[in-house]
Amino acid sequence: MQLNKKEQAWAKETLDRVAHKLERVAERSKDKIPYTTLHGVHDDKSGEEIGWWTNGFWGGMMWQMYALTGKELYKEIAEDNERKLDACLMDINRLDHDNGFRWLPTAVADYRMTKNPASRNRGLLAAGNLALQRERAELLVGAGYPYDALDEEPECGLCRDSGFLPEGEPCKCLMAYYTQEQNRRLSKLLDLGNQSFETFSLDWYSGEVWPEYGRSPLENMKMIREICGDYARTFPRCGGNLLFTGAPGLGKTFLSACIAREVSGRGFSVVYDTAGHVFQQFESGKFGRENPFEEDPDREVNRYLNCDLLIMDDVGTEMLTSFVQSAFYRIVNDRLVNRRKTVLSTNLPMAELERRYGMAAASRIRGEYQMLRFFGEDIRVLKRDR
Ligand SMILES: [Zn+2]
Repeated sequence: MQLNKKEQAWAKETLDRVAHKLERVAERSKDKIPYTTLHGVHDDKSGEEIGWWTNGFWGGMMWQMYALTGKELYKEIAEDNERKLDACLMDINRLDHDNGFRWLPTAVADYRMTKNPASRNRGLLAAGNLALQRERAELLVGAGYPYDALDEEPECGLCRDSGFLPEGEPCKCLMAYYTQEQNRRLSKLLDLGNQSFETFSLDWYSGEVWPEYGRSPLENMKMIREICGDYARTFPRCGGNLLFTGAPGLGKTFLSACIAREVSGRGFSVVYDTAGHVFQQFESGKFGRENPFEEDPDREVNRYLNCDLLIMDDVGTEMLTSFVQSAFYRIVNDRLVNRRKTVLSTNLPMAELERRYGMAAASRIRGEYQMLRFFGEDIRVLKRDR
């Protein structure tokens, strides 16, 4: 392949970045066989999950790095990965059509570089098994059975556990899995155990009318609790988007968590995050990642834009830049255009939001969000003083 000067420079720069990043990642995850990251930390598919289909990829990356740099650490990690896979090679139930994914990047790569006879043995065993699987499938089909007649029944009959339908569309089971994963992360972020509409107490709100609002904090919170409860229970049919405004310590975050819990419990994908973190992910997506242990920012940004319900807390506490302004508009506008629901929570009044994020964003919010104003005495202060 012929690359022009610009392409060569790009390739070199990218390779340098990969090498730079993997040096730290490899050291930190050297005893694992990672598949993905959770909160910036690699998971580990060795042990119980040694049959996992991507379990040769990590070793393969290490051989690539060894070929590139000659550093022993990479070779050691790759060899360790290959040895761990022996548990899979010795278990007929774990050998399947992904044999190639497991042993081409590990044992076969090893043999090509080092001529290690043990690696050759592994590669041939895996390949031989693969060939036999194919022969068995042909025999079954020849005898009038489905090719996978001897396999265990798939859990999902629609896609036979491949996750995708014949037309290439993602299957319902895969979408349900994504939602479940998303909500598993959500429940880590919010302490969902305690926050529900039932446990939301009105005891801390005074019954005295505040003249400027024409009602008491107690009446106001009753109304807000009712609106939020209906919103969550009927999601996404009724109610569009919500804007919580008001001073800190009045229950905005608590009610956000109640909504998150109810809506995610009903099977919708919900993402809850603070504005500061949301914008940080947008920014990392733009400038590339410095810290290799962070979440993949592009994936994070897609979650913010595509989840069924985005709950963004502490809007207005982040440092304001023109990048933040445009990211904010993009979130508000894209989600409206795609008919996805959003709940924003802020200590700032509407006029201040407009000053901060500009007229365009503010007018979208005025037109499409129901504003709920929280007022009263700071509950945290009341609790402390009682
Ligand atoms: Zn399926």
